[in-house]
Amino acid sequence: MTKKLYGSLEAGGTKFVCAVGDENFQVVEKVQFPTTTPYETIAKTVEFFKKFEDDLAGVAIGSFGPIDIDENSKTYGYITKTPKPGWSDVDLVGLIAKDFKVPFYFTTDVNSSAYGEVMARKGVENLVYYTIGTGIGAGAIQRGEFIGGVGHTEAGHTYMALHPQDQANEFHGVCPFHNGCLEGLAAGPSLEARTGIRGELIEQNSSVWDVQAYYIAQAAVQATLLYRPQVIVFGGGVMAQEHMLKRVRDKFSALLNGYLPVPDVTDYIVTPAVAENGSATLGNFALAKKVAER
Ligand code: ZN
Repeated sequence: MTKKLYGSLEAGGTKFVCAVGDENFQVVEKVQFPTTTPYETIAKTVEFFKKFEDDLAGVAIGSFGPIDIDENSKTYGYITKTPKPGWSDVDLVGLIAKDFKVPFYFTTDVNSSAYGEVMARKGVENLVYYTIGTGIGAGAIQRGEFIGGVGHTEAGHTYMALHPQDQANEFHGVCPFHNGCLEGLAAGPSLEARTGIRGELIEQNSSVWDVQAYYIAQAAVQATLLYRPQVIVFGGGVMAQEHMLKRVRDKFSALLNGYLPVPDVTDYIVTPAVAENGSATLGNFALAKKVAER
């Protein structure tokens, strides 16, 4: 009998989401639990997939990072230098895969989401997916393949032109590595650093949203100039707010300033096509199938 189930692990900094899906990539079962210690979290992950072991054809893991995705590297499958306590230099894939005989695929969480969004959009094979949350990451796909060379891309840490308001306040963001990168200037913690108020409690008419939108729009301009995607998808809680999507679209158009032809901005700068944060799970099912057929 052929094995018919595909496994997905979305390994996030705050929670792990494990799922198995059928041949049509429909979710058969899905669980999530908080990301605690590596030992405890990985044990729960193994326990979940063990239930389906006899029918699993492959598993794909999309992880927070940075991670090592170079199959020729000694530390392939590791989470490398993460600011998350206890998780640096953890052999995530090795510690899970040692209990299974099936093939594993390993990539970033945002690459998994990007892949899921390509799967969900007919005729699209050039796409950039950003998540705007407590951190910012992006996955880029060109002609159906991930962009990356010796490692995965880290578009959340590109340097930005400072908004005049940040310039006046000498605010350069909260990233411990960079003075003035996208994540440091536009992820959730930057909102609180500017205002002293948690992002979700800031009034909709606060100027801080325009500041944040300015940076997210710059990211969309960069993605356009670098990759010429068919669509740019913004996931994460912040962009689920209609007012933010509009601000980003308006600022994107102003910043690009007609330099290149792009699709209508309402078709071009969008939120995920897969409902309920399911992009990464769908992407992982497809990647698990790919690795199983290799
Ligand atoms: Zn940074």
